[in-house]
Amino acid sequence: MAYEKTCPNCENTMKTIPAGVSKRTGRPYDSFDVCEHCNPKKGKSSAPKSDNTEVLNALRENYKINQEILREFRAFSKIFSEKNEEKAE
Ligand SMILES: [Zn+2]
Repeated sequence: MAYEKTCPNCENTMKTIPAGVSKRTGRPYDSFDVCEHCNPKKGKSSAPKSDNTEVLNALRENYKINQEILREFRAFSKIFSEKNEEKAE
């Protein structure tokens, strides 16, 4: 008895993920349907389990730094575009 669900977004057949325990969080989860088209696998994370916290912290730190850089970059590009506007006039 085939039991298939279609994605409400792209109408592709959704893949049913059987219930199990999350390798990432160690928590059990119910079976659910996932559209591989709309939710491509995020795999390729080669971080070893024991380093998860460290990796997460590093990512957070990285994110913070990125936000700072982004802010500076925005301020910088604002000055830059203002200068360009002056030139244009
Ligand atoms: Zn989809």
